[in-house]
Amino acid sequence: MTDIVGHDSKQLFLYEKAQAELLHGLWQLVANRSTTVANIGQPAHIYRPAKAFLTLAAFVGLDDSAGDACPPESSTKVYGRVCRFFRALLADVEGRLGLVHYKLAVEWPAFQVVVIESTRTKAPPAGERCISCDTTTPGAGSRLDFPATNLHRVWLDAKARPMLIITPTRHCERLSQCTDDELATFWWTAARAMQQELGVGVDMLAGPAAGANAVIRRLTLNHGNARNIAHLHLKILVRQELWKKTLVHRWSDERRAQWDALDGGRVYRNWRVRELQALKAQAATPDTE
Ligand SMILES: [Zn+2]
Repeated sequence: MTDIVGHDSKQLFLYEKAQAELLHGLWQLVANRSTTVANIGQPAHIYRPAKAFLTLAAFVGLDDSAGDACPPESSTKVYGRVCRFFRALLADVEGRLGLVHYKLAVEWPAFQVVVIESTRTKAPPAGERCISCDTTTPGAGSRLDFPATNLHRVWLDAKARPMLIITPTRHCERLSQCTDDELATFWWTAARAMQQELGVGVDMLAGPAAGANAVIRRLTLNHGNARNIAHLHLKILVRQELWKKTLVHRWSDERRAQWDALDGGRVYRNWRVRELQALKAQAATPDTE
């Protein structure tokens, strides 16, 4: 049996279940080295569902007619599909491969997940206030009104990059720590946020694999030392020209004011410098008790 570092018995069960699903051909490991992935110096592992889907939206069952779309309910086929695929993938990545530090990127067409090993050694500093959970931090200013699910939140990037950010509402740091509800809804929320915020049809959501024509340049979820912020956050990097077009033509005055208030990311950067200095000073102060 493969060693599973830091996993409890429930996860061990999920790992065994994932192995069974692999055997039954529900998903496939396409490649386990970087040969098919351009410009990546690190080992990469590519996963696809056994049945082919064109986009992330197609995989999570979101179509263009989804007016008042609701996330998939636990009794539905889509919910089961998304949970099984990502549980199997995570069991393979964190169980069989034993990876702790990695980038998880979603690509299309055709929908696939690329896991890239990270050699970064710097972890997010312990004790830092969480910009997703603590409303007294500048994070509060970049949160968007997105009522489709209360399990996740949608944000502008506090650094003011052309990006949407999706986080679980609850503080967790790895995708494998999410409940089934959080897992199924996470990817649905990402697809829904792209559809709604960028105003393009699901078929037009040209993904990272579309190269220069890609609407979405990158969609990544960093784990362990591969991330700068502890709270699990999915980064949806949008093509700059589309972002500007979206900014000018689609946003409300309120949204525009919210964006302007980020001051090109200076508000966040200045806060973070102060925050890290305070942590350092705290660590240097001897315990007076
Ligand atoms: Zn948090």
